Amino acid sequence: MSRLYGFAVLMLSACATSTAPVQTGIFDSAETMFAEARAKAISIAAPVFRANAPYCSRTQTIDFTDEPAFDICAQQIRLLHGAAANAHTEGQFIYVYDGAVLALSKDETAFLIAHELAHDILGHNMAAGSYPQAEIEADRVAVAVMHRSGFSPRAVPPFLRRMGFETSPESDSHPAGIMRIETVENAILDLGL
Ligand SMILES: [Zn+2]
Repeated sequence: MSRLYGFAVLMLSACATSTAPVQTGIFDSAETMFAEARAKAISIAAPVFRANAPYCSRTQTIDFTDEPAFDICAQQIRLLHGAAANAHTEGQFIYVYDGAVLALSKDETAFLIAHELAHDILGHNMAAGSYPQAEIEADRVAVAVMHRSGFSPRAVPPFLRRMGFETSPESDSHPAGIMRIETVENAILDLGL
């Protein structure tokens, strides 16, 4: 499946989740760490992009010789060096950080990607910047995006609390963190998860 995810690179910033440092010292080198993070990011983004293809604004068709062709969301992942546990997108790319991808669980990383993809599904123009209501909507849709992809959104509220969202204040671009936690919790309940 490597051909499928040769596009695997990530991008994250407008939707900053937090900037908590992560432990990266266990890796032999930056190159090894990047390769490990890339493989993990691909393994998470692949099911997200595939399961949500019916909802994305743009898709691309993957046509292997040994299996039926299928569509995936046309977004691409861009993996950056860094430890910030957040993501951002301008529409085409979803950026994430290698240190964070390695430090976070698969469900937590899937949430970062799902939230950015949710902006596209909702038709938000992320190149123009974000605003609190758009972030709330993206969090709500991200829960469904994760569930469709086989990841557990129930991992998200504890993740956000660990990142300090309970006390993070509202800004011009983002709602108060506690509102985001409550939004995710309500979306989980609405889905009966
Ligand atoms: Zn966002």
